[in-house]
Amino acid sequence: MTIVGLTGGIGSGKSTVVRMFGDLGIHWVDADDVAREVVEPGTPALKAIAEHFGPDILTGDGALDRAQLRKIVFETPEERAWLEALLHPVIREELVRQLTPDNYTQPYTLLVSPLLFETNQHQLVDRAIVVDVPVEVQIDRTMSRDTNSRDQVERIIAAQMPREERLARADAIIDNNRPIDDVERQVRDLHKRILVDFV
Ligand code: ADP
Repeated sequence: MTIVGLTGGIGSGKSTVVRMFGDLGIHWVDADDVAREVVEPGTPALKAIAEHFGPDILTGDGALDRAQLRKIVFETPEERAWLEALLHPVIREELVRQLTPDNYTQPYTLLVSPLLFETNQHQLVDRAIVVDVPVEVQIDRTMSRDTNSRDQVERIIAAQMPREERLARADAIIDNNRPIDDVERQVRDLHKRILVDFV
């Protein structure tokens, strides 16, 4: 089973592009979804987090208070390291489980992840697609999608891999600084290329 990574910075268009692959019948696993699933109420990881940070890290209904956790790890590198040491292996295990369904009929599966190269997730994929837009477009699109301030978006981008470095590691690139129908054409072409060259 071939696994193809699909990455790009925040607002580059990963969700948009992966839905186009979905229209071609390709299944995908979203690393952001998995990262949320492994800390849902009742999971061992959430229990470990509540034991480490205290019960105040949970909301009234027992879910993880993400805003508070983000604040703590943003301010305290040691706590970030602790959290990553806990979650990375758990996320990876769940990704592997979801990427290897019992009976698959598909030529390849996509792993969508904003941090494919930054984390060890690239070890799970055979090839990597990068969805690319100039940083200014990335900022504009993220701001209009999320109503984040420019400052917040720039901080997130600064914490991700620089555009040039990401592009240098790509096996294939989708130029998403284009009208949607052009991007759809790129996706159809790349799908054919994947079937011939990657699978
Ligand atoms: P990501 O998943 O990488 O964070 P999204 O797919 O959510 O990015 O795209 C960010 C925003 O830009 C969304 O609001 C999306 O609708 C918009 N967008 C994506 N691709 C294009 C495009 N080619 N032209 C115009 N808007 C786009």
